[in-house]
Amino acid sequence: MSFTLPNLPYAHDALEPHIDTRTMEIHHGKHHAGYTNNLNAAIKGTDLEGKSIEALLASPANGAIRNNGGGFYNHSLFWQVMSPKGGGQPTGDLAAAIDKAFGSFDAFKSAFSAAAGTRFGSGWAWLIKKADGSLAVTSTPNQDNPLMDVADDHGTPILGLDVWEHAYYLNYQNRRPDYVAAFFNVINWEKVSELYKG
Ligand code: MN
Repeated sequence: MSFTLPNLPYAHDALEPHIDTRTMEIHHGKHHAGYTNNLNAAIKGTDLEGKSIEALLASPANGAIRNNGGGFYNHSLFWQVMSPKGGGQPTGDLAAAIDKAFGSFDAFKSAFSAAAGTRFGSGWAWLIKKADGSLAVTSTPNQDNPLMDVADDHGTPILGLDVWEHAYYLNYQNRRPDYVAAFFNVINWEKVSELYKG
């Protein structure tokens, strides 16, 4: 069994002007496809074949699984938590959980933006649901994520933002804060709520 590159849930140009068409084409068609192919190559013919991606990531067997399995999982989540109809604020149980964890939506937004902005080099910012059900913001380097034993903070990612330069450089160059601010215009809170409910 091998992993399949998931289709984007919208057209390449759907997130314009916040995320540009060419970035989406390269990011999904080259970067995410590359992680997927390399993950499949890394597990082929080993006893890791047939394991779920979550099982592979819990304690990555080697650097190829850590980097490419992380890249496969992280981007698969990333496309889902964005939508051309996104933006605004969460409602219902998720909104209540955010208020409980951070005090307010604006305080959450500040914490998440700071995590994305201060991640040095390549990595991801996350909103995670911890084992006790509470929410937290964290970030990880490279293609690590909070499912991995090597991560500083553990939980299930329900929102992720890619802050690798390949995610924004064509449109934003070195202006990562502008890209992070634009991301809030496309967050698919319905999907994030679904993931929060598990
Ligand atoms: Mn990426």
